[in-house]
Amino acid sequence: MNSPKVILTVFGTRPEAIKMFPVIHALEADPRFTSRVCVSGQHRAILDQVLEISSIKPDHDLAVMQPDQTLDALTANLLIGLGKVMDEEKPDWVLVQGDTATAMSGALAAYYRKIPVAHLEAGLRSGNIYHPWPEEVNRKMIGTITALHFAPTETSAEALRRENVDPATIHVTGNSVIDALHWITAKIEREPELASGLAQLEQRFAGKRIIGVTSHRRENFGGGLEAIADAVRRLAQRDDVAMIFPVHPNPNVRKVMDDALGNLVNVALIEPLDYPHFARLLDISTLILTDSGGVQEEAPALGKPVLVMRETTERPEGVMAGTAKLVGTDADTIVAEATRLLDDKAAYAAMAKSHNPFGDGKTALRVADLLAENAGGAPA
Ligand code: UDP
Repeated sequence: MNSPKVILTVFGTRPEAIKMFPVIHALEADPRFTSRVCVSGQHRAILDQVLEISSIKPDHDLAVMQPDQTLDALTANLLIGLGKVMDEEKPDWVLVQGDTATAMSGALAAYYRKIPVAHLEAGLRSGNIYHPWPEEVNRKMIGTITALHFAPTETSAEALRRENVDPATIHVTGNSVIDALHWITAKIEREPELASGLAQLEQRFAGKRIIGVTSHRRENFGGGLEAIADAVRRLAQRDDVAMIFPVHPNPNVRKVMDDALGNLVNVALIEPLDYPHFARLLDISTLILTDSGGVQEEAPALGKPVLVMRETTERPEGVMAGTAKLVGTDADTIVAEATRLLDDKAAYAAMAKSHNPFGDGKTALRVADLLAENAGGAPA
């Protein structure tokens, strides 16, 4: 038998960790591979929560995050740090996920060493380089370097073909966010205490319909976040709803939300939830308001209507399936659309159908097979 291929997985934020852990589990269980893991620490506490629940022990931890760091400094530090790890590990493949600074720097550092790059969640495009910012460009830059593109859907594969990517390198694998959701749901069934921490809030809001809210997008900082806060405040005036809002640790988000929503009876502003508790929040929610990417994929899988508080989305599949609606960041529109879903049973029922445009939960196994079958490699 050939010696196992060394796969260096590089990631740094919570959403990357959630989408990477099923693949790392598959690589670890497969004798065709030696799995090596490098985390950048681009997020810290909320990344570590995912590593812990999924029992992943990084081989390298760069801890790159500095307070108020610019994107330039972050990217420069990532490039240097990740390059050193690659020089040490000499992997056969570098695997990156999504669209973060870590993923982009990991791909670039690998390219500088002519190490082939595989890209999980390839081909998402909003068509607007400032929405999401800077992620749209991060993802496109990774795409120009990548030797194996794991597109979650036919739509994302088509986006890559339109950019003249060699079709032989594009594979529709589904999105591993669904593998992760299946895994965590099964784990919570076996160990319900993992997600029992919302019980007090559930009691406090008994009889009310729960609206789960998240917001953290960089392009919404400033006016967008204030409008979102205003919409939440206005919706919370209804006494038949309660809002549960785990607030992203980014200080730009926290301050706006604390100032606008800190003392409202029907709003629980809480610390970021670990992944099992967030899955529980999705489960108990009637409706989701979010500007998150991953939540747009999870909510349709659970049949939860989701109002996407962004101007564009690089994940149109939920909108096409009818479980997601783009509502932008205008407070009046957000309030009107949420009110319609709360008051109009037919409108609610039309959106509350479970769809799985993002995958069947077998993405990780497909990715492992493709990594085993493909040599990658730079021209001599
Ligand atoms: N999530 C979580 N706890 C929270 C909020 C979100 O575990 O308090 C999870 C959620 O299940 C999803 C992912 O984090 O899988 C989304 O991350 P985020 O919204 O930070 O980033 P994006 O997907 O927009 O890149």
